[in-house]
Amino acid sequence: MAIRRELFAGEVLYRQDDVSDCAWLLESGQVELVSVTGRRVASQGVFGPGELIGELGLLDGTPRSATATARSDAVLLAIEREQFIERLQSCDPILRTLVDSLLQRNRGLVASLPTETAVPAEDVACDDPVERAGIDKIRLETQLRDALATGTLEVRYQPIFDIAAGRVAGYEALVRWELPGRGAVSPAEFIALAEETSLIVPVGEYVLERVVATLVELRRRGVEPLPSIAVNLSARQLVEPGMARQVVARVQAAGLPAGALKLEVTESRMLDYAPVAAVMAHCREQGVPFALDDFGTGYSNLTHLHTLDFEYIKVDQAFARHMFDSPRAMRMVEAIVAMSHGLGAKVICEGVETREQLERLRAIGVEFAQGYLVGKAAPVESVLSGEAARLGEAAASLA
Ligand code: C2E
Ligand code: CA
Ligand code: CA
Repeated sequence: MAIRRELFAGEVLYRQDDVSDCAWLLESGQVELVSVTGRRVASQGVFGPGELIGELGLLDGTPRSATATARSDAVLLAIEREQFIERLQSCDPILRTLVDSLLQRNRGLVASLPTETAVPAEDVACDDPVERAGIDKIRLETQLRDALATGTLEVRYQPIFDIAAGRVAGYEALVRWELPGRGAVSPAEFIALAEETSLIVPVGEYVLERVVATLVELRRRGVEPLPSIAVNLSARQLVEPGMARQVVARVQAAGLPAGALKLEVTESRMLDYAPVAAVMAHCREQGVPFALDDFGTGYSNLTHLHTLDFEYIKVDQAFARHMFDSPRAMRMVEAIVAMSHGLGAKVICEGVETREQLERLRAIGVEFAQGYLVGKAAPVESVLSGEAARLGEAAASLA
C-alpha cells in the first residue's frame, strides 16, 4: 500500500547510512539532503514539489548517502524499489549501462566535493517536460498500487445484446478508477501504464476476482441460465506465467459452468503466437472461450485469425460509427462478418448507438451488439438487481 508521509519543518525523513528501502516523491514542501564524510558536511541541495529523492540508493542498492530533513512542512509519497528496477531491467542494455555509469560517476563526484559545498537547489530542480511526465507516471503508478491495495478500483458491467433472441446475453467487465482530486481516470490511460510493468498482473487478478464473485452471487440468487461475463486481457497478461492456470483455477473453485467467464484479448504488436495458442487451448478445454477484441483497428492483423482460434470476434466501434456515412465501412463490416462465420466465430459489434445500426447488423447476420443503445457500463448492483428482475419476469410468464 502506498505510504504518504507528512513531515514538520525540521523532522528527519531518513538518515545517512539507513537502508535504501524506497525513494520519495515530494508532493509539497521542501527537503534538504545533507551528507557527512569525516568532518566534511555537504548539502546536496534543497528539493521541492515534483522532485524525487533517495532514488539513487534504490538503483545500486547502497545505503542512504545523506540525511533528508524537512526544511518546511512537507508531504511525500513513497516509491517502491520494484517500480524502478523492473523498468531498468526491461530497458535497452545500452541505457542501463549509461545509468550505471552516471550513477557511479555521481557517487564519485559527491565524494570528492570539498568541505561545506552546497549544490544550489536550482541546479537540481527539474523543469524538463519529459522528466515531469516521468514523475507524473511514477505518481500515477503509486496511486494505482494504492487503489489495488485498498480495493477502490471499480468493475462496471456493460450489457451485450443477443440480437436474434432479443435479450441481454452477458456483460463485459470494464474497470473504472475514481481518483480523488483528478476524477475518473480512463482505463485507456491506466491500463496502458499498468502494462508497462507487471502491475498489470494484480490489476487483472483484481478484475477477475470481482467478476467471478459477481457470477457466484448471480447463481446464489438463482439466476438461470447465468449470463456470461467477459474480462479484458492484454496479450501481455495472457502469457504472464501462471495466468491461464489462475483463470481456470478460479473458475473451477467457484464451480462456474462452461462459458460463464469469457476472455477478450486485445491485439498487440508483440503477440507471440506459440505461448498465446497454448494458453488459449488450456483455457478453452476448461470452458473459457475467447473473443478477439477491437478487430479491424490498431495492431489488427489477419495472422491472429489465421493462427489462433477465437469463439467470438468483436468488431471495433469505429465500424459501427461509420456504417452509414461510408458505404465502404458497411462493405467491410459485411466482409468481416462473412469471414468470421467462415472461421466458425460469432460476431459482436461494438459501439452500437442507434436502432438503425442494430437493424442493419441484424440484417447482415451479426449475432451480438454492444453499445450505448443497449446500455452503458453499470455498477455491479444494477446487474444483480437487473438479472434478478428478469428472473422474476420469466417466472411470472411461466405461471
Ligand atoms: P474496450 O474493451 O474496447 O471497451 C469498450 C470501450 O468502449 C469502453 O470504454 C466502453 O465504455 C466504450 N463504449 C462502449 N459502448 C460504447 C458506445 O456505444 N459508444 C462509445 N462512444 N463508446 C462505447 P472504457 O470503459 O473507457 O474502456 C477502454 C478500454 O480499456 C477498453 O476498451 C479495454 O481495452 C480497456 N480495459 C477496460 N477494462 C479493462 C480491464 O479490466 N483489463 C484490461 N486489460 N483492459 C481493460
Ligand atoms: Ca473489450
Ligand atoms: Ca473493444
